[in-house]
Amino acid sequence: MKRFPLWACVCVAMALACAGPALSVSSFTPPAIEGRPEASAAALATQTNPMTLLLDARQASRGLMSARLTVPVKAGDFTLSYPKWIPGEHGPTGPLHDLASLRISALGRALPWSRDATDMYSFHISVPSGVDRLDVSFDVLLNAPGDVMSTKNIAIVNWNRDLLYQADTDSHQVFVRAGILLPLGWDFASALPGARRDGNRVDFAQTSLATLVDSPLDCGSYVKHIPEWSHDGATAQLDVFADRPQDLDIPEDVINAYKATVPQALALYGARHWEVYHSLLTLSDAIGTQGIEHHQSSDDRAADGFLVDEKRQLASGDLLTHEFSHSWNGKYRRPADLTTPNFQVPMRTDLLWVYEGMNQYLGDLLSFRAGIRKPKEYPEYLAALYASMDYEPGRETTPLIDLTTSAPYLYQAEGDYASLRRTADDFYTEGELVWLDVDTIIREGTDGRRAIDDFLHIFAGPPTTAAMTATYTRPDVERLLGSVMPYDWHGFFARYVYAVSLHPPTDELQRSGWKLVYSPKPNEFIEADGANNRETNLWYSIGLILEEDGTVRDVRRGSPAFAAGLAPGTKIVAVNGQAFGSDVPDGEDDPLRYAIRTAQRARRPIALLGQRSKWYGTYDIAYRGGLRYPHLVRIAGKPDMLAKIMAPR
Ligand SMILES: [Zn+2]
Repeated sequence: MKRFPLWACVCVAMALACAGPALSVSSFTPPAIEGRPEASAAALATQTNPMTLLLDARQASRGLMSARLTVPVKAGDFTLSYPKWIPGEHGPTGPLHDLASLRISALGRALPWSRDATDMYSFHISVPSGVDRLDVSFDVLLNAPGDVMSTKNIAIVNWNRDLLYQADTDSHQVFVRAGILLPLGWDFASALPGARRDGNRVDFAQTSLATLVDSPLDCGSYVKHIPEWSHDGATAQLDVFADRPQDLDIPEDVINAYKATVPQALALYGARHWEVYHSLLTLSDAIGTQGIEHHQSSDDRAADGFLVDEKRQLASGDLLTHEFSHSWNGKYRRPADLTTPNFQVPMRTDLLWVYEGMNQYLGDLLSFRAGIRKPKEYPEYLAALYASMDYEPGRETTPLIDLTTSAPYLYQAEGDYASLRRTADDFYTEGELVWLDVDTIIREGTDGRRAIDDFLHIFAGPPTTAAMTATYTRPDVERLLGSVMPYDWHGFFARYVYAVSLHPPTDELQRSGWKLVYSPKPNEFIEADGANNRETNLWYSIGLILEEDGTVRDVRRGSPAFAAGLAPGTKIVAVNGQAFGSDVPDGEDDPLRYAIRTAQRARRPIALLGQRSKWYGTYDIAYRGGLRYPHLVRIAGKPDMLAKIMAPR
């Protein structure tokens, strides 16, 4: 999963789960949890007697779908579960509030149901004798603030939102035949196997419940299917669903860069563990930006002009490459304690510093190697990542391992002072710094003969297999790294992941021939990100992130703005007596940037007038350091290892 932005102090992001037509699970270790939820019940929905699901999506553009299921049962007490822990989202995020109008019947007669008093995702039914199948139907509410799944022209189907299943069963042993009724004239794409279309109805081959939930479907009225790669019957494809037809006029060089992702990923890992792969991309301001990984597809969501706007590619050009890389790192190889037998058993997320942290590095690396972003832009990007982590006050108390362990709640965390709490984005951003450090240690220690690519070849590489999952633990990762190059990898991760570390890993900068400096020149990535998120970053000077209208989004503890008494939510209305927020001509500083830039020669502090609720306040900021933004500059005489790392293979 992936959230945006990555280096601002307030963030958004997410990811999801695995499995193709032939999903099998090796070295599978269900977590030991006493009592329910568990997965030891014999599944009644078998290969010869599957459950069925028909999703009626014809009302999708008004935010409604309805699900009709038939579920094999036997007489007596029976419990249906609504999926709660969603793979890739790494948390109990199943949107229970989107299930409405639940009806259960058998042999044409309505049956009463009751919700469990403590586990609200469970529904109890008493099945009369003579009944071996329930008819279940409910409405699926598609849209909520921050969770928009449909617009007039697009709908995203995450099947976990559309089903109930027999409680306590292993989702790899529950079988289902699914179908969908599409709105008139709409097209669709999905990695779900065996699609047969008849008019507006599409029926799929029977799969396990795990594979169904791992195979989202996008549908819509403005669609472009772009074949990316094929070899020996295996194919990769980009399926773009736009809210506006003009956003499908994708420049040829952009398409070619995305096509280059596949050979670059195959070179990075050395093999594949998918037969088909669909990057399912929606382009819609209403739906927003997010990425969720699956084994043979990804559910990618970006803004209207994502594929035609260079700034958006600069800031978020790793959206698809990040999710694609998860097919290997996350779906094929997955932390043992994150691998659960069904959607009710809690996940343990401590190893997300590998699953997401390493993947943040690899997704970025692939975006630069494929040419979605230019390799020469990486140092500026890296400077932005490094500074954002180095200037986060919460790191004084909170190590990375606490952030991954608490990820299920941290992904949902909102509110003031995110930089003190730290965020789920940190194990992505700092994960990139940790894994770049690993890469440069290997390169330096082997005189350039080996790299992280060699680790990936033994971690998630040959031989090519069908979609399957092999689990790992922290000792496995350290042992495999040791086989690439002997080193105290346990001590390295102990220092940077498992203990409080006042600074992110630093050695990789110098080792790769660069050093970090701050200057008044804006950082390109911070500017691009600020434009996309409509915010101004003054974090490294007076210590503020401002929204477009001047409202303080976060204030850095220990900064001049914090010392002046500013708090999140305060709206700056004047700077040194001059109105703030009025239109600023292109190329000119707004009054606050002007005041910071010229503060060195001013005799008085920067005087802000702020409004919070119905109250005004004045804030004098004693600061003379000018505007400050992070950059990397070359160390004379040292080879440029970053250029080598980001060069296409
Ligand atoms: Zn991810």
